[in-house]
Amino acid sequence: MPANHTMQWNQALAELPGLTVREAKALEASSLLTVGDLLMRVPRRYEDRRSTKPIASLVNGETVSLLVHVYSAGWRFSYKRYFEVSAGAEADPYGARILLRWFNMPYVAKLLAMGMNLSVYGKVKEYGGKLTMTNPDFEVMEDEDTGRRLVQVAMGDLAEPAAPPLPEQELVHTARIVPIYKGISGIPARSLRALVWRVLQHLPQQVAQPGYDVAPLYPFRQALQDIHFPETPEASQKARMRFALAECFCQQFTVAWKRRRTQGRVGQVTATTDAYLQELLQSLPFCLTAAQQRCVAEIRADMQRPQQMNRLLQGDVGSGKTLVALCAMLLAVESGKTAAMIAPTQILAEQHYNNFRRLLKDMDVRLSLRTSDRADDSDIIPEAPGYADAAPRIIVGTHALLYKKNRPQSLGLAVIDEQHKFGVAQREQFINCGDNPDVLVMTATPIPRTLTLTLYGDLDVSVIDELPANRGEIITALRTPAQLKKIIAFMRTELEAGRQIYIVSPLIEESETRQQASALKELEKWRSIFPDVNIGLLHGRLSADDKDAVMARFRAADTKILVSTTVVEVGVDVPNATIMLINDADAFGLSQLHQLRGRIGRGQHKSYCILLSATKPGEPGRDKLDVLCRTLNGFEIAEEDFRLRGPGDVLGTAQSGLGAVRFAEWLSDMRLIHRASRDAAAILDADPDLRLPEHAALRELVSHEAEQGITG
Ligand code: ADP
Ligand code: MG
Repeated sequence: MPANHTMQWNQALAELPGLTVREAKALEASSLLTVGDLLMRVPRRYEDRRSTKPIASLVNGETVSLLVHVYSAGWRFSYKRYFEVSAGAEADPYGARILLRWFNMPYVAKLLAMGMNLSVYGKVKEYGGKLTMTNPDFEVMEDEDTGRRLVQVAMGDLAEPAAPPLPEQELVHTARIVPIYKGISGIPARSLRALVWRVLQHLPQQVAQPGYDVAPLYPFRQALQDIHFPETPEASQKARMRFALAECFCQQFTVAWKRRRTQGRVGQVTATTDAYLQELLQSLPFCLTAAQQRCVAEIRADMQRPQQMNRLLQGDVGSGKTLVALCAMLLAVESGKTAAMIAPTQILAEQHYNNFRRLLKDMDVRLSLRTSDRADDSDIIPEAPGYADAAPRIIVGTHALLYKKNRPQSLGLAVIDEQHKFGVAQREQFINCGDNPDVLVMTATPIPRTLTLTLYGDLDVSVIDELPANRGEIITALRTPAQLKKIIAFMRTELEAGRQIYIVSPLIEESETRQQASALKELEKWRSIFPDVNIGLLHGRLSADDKDAVMARFRAADTKILVSTTVVEVGVDVPNATIMLINDADAFGLSQLHQLRGRIGRGQHKSYCILLSATKPGEPGRDKLDVLCRTLNGFEIAEEDFRLRGPGDVLGTAQSGLGAVRFAEWLSDMRLIHRASRDAAAILDADPDLRLPEHAALRELVSHEAEQGITG
């Protein structure tokens, strides 16, 4: 490729001279089609290979860059054939030497010869008093008047020995901060790095950031250089920040766009009277917490407005979200509308249904359950006769609510429980059952504030930041498997006091059959420990009916111990259960553990969450267990989880809407989010419909993103 050849951002990689067909195919398989695709694939990390040292000062085990002269080179044979170079300082032919050895890389022999100067990078090892490096990264340097020059042939990267060296040519793989990319199968790491380097060198200085330039004062071209081949660690940080800001901007812009679309959307006026609500509140054996009252008031104010409500109800496990949702549903029903709540599992839907039935038993409100996991046509539980079919009511259900025959009529309020468990299309379908019904979404997992803004910026948010006062204390303890005997004795005393116990194990086995086998083994183990106690088993292979039956027996205290895999995690409510024993606790995520712990401490009894783990302080997986022992606050735990794992893992990338995030570590940075959100607002204030030609890219962004929104 001639030195003055320039590349365009959208240029196809397959057209690049010097790229083999195989490499082009490999790139394509990784969805890297254009120069831009390649450059937007930023390094996963860097290796600082800047420090070079004299050979005499090398220590066994250290990893360094070296500038050396080749004094001899040739094939050797021990248990295997390898190519060996004896190298030392060029200025000191009698000084210390290092042996560079390449195994299984015969082509190295074609590249290296006596008299060359090399830059190498690798780990120093001492064998029999000799310093060696095995398979080091290397670059051949040409000694010219001007100084170091890279001969572009090293290891077949570029395979263009005829091309004249570029004027700005520098070392790519050694003696600098070197980018480490996520591997692409079919392309050696070195070739990939060399390709990025080459492409970057040919990119015009004034290349524009695709979409919208978030930081015109820091040229995009420079940021690309800094993120791929930074001169200093600070330069790469600065560049990552710029890329992160661009990403935040895209998210905030999309969110702001959607918010402006939905905010003004005409909705229904309900909740003008509250007789049902008052009746419910009077029948409760407790008062709503102040936080619950505030949330009900916020929701009610929304429902009374002629615009559609789009509100997120957030609260820790056990904070009483479901009750708040029921209050909202009663307000809708009293206005002559139907209110429906969709839950992700059969168990949850039925639990809500049974709770509501209990709470509403003396009230003149119709309630029905619609799920499909049950056999055949019993999926619609018959209601008391005498009601016209279209009369308003409260409907609780699973995905079955989305089937035509189950679709609620005249929906005034749509409540989505555990909203992240539903796909965008499903949420949309559900909401569309009505004529712009008010929408209330709930999450069981508290999310850090930054993420709330990022993911749910198009929603108003109500937070229940207080637990009901009648809750028994929860003690969390970290124990090793060696202490099991004492734990069993303690479990026995709790059982004798009439309490119940959860025992949860992580899904470690890959196959479902083996998962089932290990669940059964766990069951047998506990049956032999407590032969006189009824023990139930819940695992993924059970049919929905069987799961229900197991849960029902546990809820009714027919079984005293429930051995289970994670199925028990979501929203299950058995106030008499006071022990949560978690096997291999380190195998669970922090938020998941918090969810599990939320299954106990639901009644007035003191409860105990026992984390079994063999991990020692400082070992992987141990940190989160310590966090859990330290705090009960779900929001604090969410922040911590976020810090430990990043948002993608916390929420599950697939469901989080964060699928494309490359700079997730920055999402915890409020300044970026605020700046991005301010910029987005300014643009939409000036050009609400994105008609200006310079906003064409943004128009494209929102039309594309609209399909991936949270609430649409
Ligand atoms: P969440 O859905 O937020 O995890 P739930 O709504 O399931 O919590 O509430 C958990 C339990 O607490 C339920 O048994 C519910 O009846 C009870 N509860 C809700 N609000 C209160 C309150 N203000 N005081 C006492 N108990 C409450
Ligand atoms: Mg709930």
